[in-house]
This record gives sequence, C-alpha cells and structure tokens, in this order.
Amino acid sequence: MSAKSDVFVRVACKCPICKRESTHRYLKSKMFQPVTTEDDHFVRKYRWELEQFKKLRPEHLHVWHCPHCHFCDEKEVFRGEDNCGGKLDMIRDKLLVEFRRPESPLVRLGESIDLQAEMVSWSSALAAHLVAIFIQNQLSPNMRLKGKLARLYLRSAWLFREKKYPDIVGGRAPEDPDFIQIFNDLKEEATEIPFDEESAMKSAIEYFKLELETVGRTDNIRQEVSLMFLLVSLYRRLGDKRMSYDYVRMIFQQGTKRRNATQKALEGAIRRDNVTGSQIEHIKSLLKWLNNTVERSSDTAEELSEEIFKEEYPRARKWVMEMENPTPETILTTLRGQHFFEGTCRRVANIFKKNLLDTDPDKLEEAVAAANKAAEEEKAKGFFSKVVSMIKGDEEK
Ligand SMILES: [Zn+2]
Repeated sequence: MSAKSDVFVRVACKCPICKRESTHRYLKSKMFQPVTTEDDHFVRKYRWELEQFKKLRPEHLHVWHCPHCHFCDEKEVFRGEDNCGGKLDMIRDKLLVEFRRPESPLVRLGESIDLQAEMVSWSSALAAHLVAIFIQNQLSPNMRLKGKLARLYLRSAWLFREKKYPDIVGGRAPEDPDFIQIFNDLKEEATEIPFDEESAMKSAIEYFKLELETVGRTDNIRQEVSLMFLLVSLYRRLGDKRMSYDYVRMIFQQGTKRRNATQKALEGAIRRDNVTGSQIEHIKSLLKWLNNTVERSSDTAEELSEEIFKEEYPRARKWVMEMENPTPETILTTLRGQHFFEGTCRRVANIFKKNLLDTDPDKLEEAVAAANKAAEEEKAKGFFSKVVSMIKGDEEK
C-alpha cells in the first residue's frame, strides 16, 4: 500500500440510482486543517499533516460519481444516510431518460469525470458538481432540494474562484482538453448549470433564500444567522452592497432581539431553583454566541455603510449642488426620493450642515471628525459658561 492511500478512506457501495457497485473515497478528516478561510467558507489554504498531500483540495472529492450511470451527489446519498428528501425514485426516472441522450450534459460531463485518479483534476471535480446540479434541476422547482442545490452552487463558485489563485492552480493536475471543449459547447445549451463564479453565486443566493424561508419556520437561530451571513458575503462579492446591508441589518435586529430575550431567560433561570446547571450553561453559551453575532453584524454593517457612501457620495453631492436653497431637511427628502442609501442621505445632510460639501472627498472623514470635535468643544464651552453663570447667579443672590 502506498503512503498516498493513507490519507483516504476507500469504500465500495451500491449506487442509489442504478444499484451497481463502485469504489469511492474521502479524505480522513484529521489529515488536514483549514488555515485561511474566506467569509463564504471558501478555504484558501489548508495545513496538511503529511507534506506530500499539500497539493490536494478536499473540495475536489466532495461530490461522488457513479461511473455506471453518472449519478453525482454528496457521499451521504451514496452511503444511504441521505435519501434526497425521498426523491430518489423521481431522480432515477429523470436520470434514465437523460442517460439515453448522448448530447445530455449528464452524459457529456459524466464521461469526462475521473475521481479515481491519484490527484483529482479540477475539471473532474467541477464536472461532478455540475452533473449533480444538473440532476437536481431535472426535478420540478417545488420538488427541488433547496439546501442541497444552494450548497452545490456555492461549492461550484469556490471551484471557479480557486482558478483565480495562482498558488492553488500550481498544485493541480493538468486540465483535460476534452473537458474544455465540452464546457464551451454546453455554455450555449445548458441553462441550468453555472459556467462562472458569478452565475454560480447568483444561483446559490436564489436557493439560500428559499432555504432561509424554510429554516425561518423552524426557530433555529444559529442556522438562520449562518445562512444570512452567507447571503451578506455573496451579495457583497457580487457588488450588490445594498442587498448585503439589508441582510446584515436583519441579522443585527434579530440577533439583538434574541439576545435581550436570552438575557432575561438567563436571569429568570438563575432566580429559579428548577433549572439544572447544564441548562444554564446552554443558555450562557447561546448568549455568548448572540453577543458575537450582534458585534460581528454591527461591524460588517458599518463597513458596508462606509463602502456604499464612498460609491454614492459623488452623485449625491451633485444632486445637492443643483438644489436651490438646500436645507438639511430638503436634502434628506430629495436624496431619499432618488433612492440613495439611507446612510448616505444622512451623512450628506450632515456634511452640508457642517459646510463641508467642497471638501475633497478623500479628506472628508478627517474634516467631519474635526467639525464634530469643534462642535463638541463649543457645546462643552456653552455648558461650562452656563455652569459659571449659574454659580455667579447663586453668588449674587
Ligand atoms: Zn449508478
């Protein structure tokens, strides 16, 4: 047995669709650790226990492939731990029809997949993900497994992104020229599979939102927040910062509300005698998590608000410059009417109030801070002189 096989667990199992047996493998979890992770959980860098495996990407082995019928899905489905929401029979019927069409993406992509190679190629990994997406999309929209599709789209976005990082690309097996041909041909025909990171992220958003509706009905705040943070980062990556901000605000509001309720529950539990220590620990850990959530969402909201302001300011300023006799109130009304971001409207009104509309936008922050400081000092002076005159008044009495 070569040293290389040490890192894999190999299992033989029957395909849940065609019932024929084949061998699959997955990586032993203790063999690697994510080191650098991006906000949508894409792992930029891993640390490997054994140096010789450091060129492997665990993501490449996430989706399994049946070499007989080209069924592709996550390993849990092959191992019988996930029955695809009871839709395997329906999937089998659709897949058998597609399997007889040589021009079907199932067959064209399926034939290019080789997950048994020592080093799985990027194209095999991507093809397996695309086939899995294609198969799920054969079900009618209301039958589709939203969460699964969302994950598969997100994971294919990661695969596309991976190509942008030269240090990751350098560690991969060479690409199959046939795959590139298939990929380019399908681009024209197959609308249900993504062909770049952007379209993969857009579809991931669509399905994560549907998934969020379902999770929202189950009162699982941790899962709900985690889905919303994913939406925040996907919208941000796509440049839709307003939508990103909307979701981060939702997290902040729900997180704050839940934190306050949990705080009360904790106080109540401590007062009562019928609550066990482990129940109290459970509430405490939820409270800690909620505090982190609120803090993280508030920081992200601030960052986003700043980014949106920077983008919108030149246009908003132009609107104000063209107004006759603007006042902070009419500025707010006008900019809101033009659908500017609320944070931008307020900041521009404030900048106007401080006479800073002519300031170089790059120096605005400093100028606003200086004006705020001056106003504070003025206020303090005012307060001080009031105190002084009060004292003097007392003395005169
Ligand atoms: Zn099969």
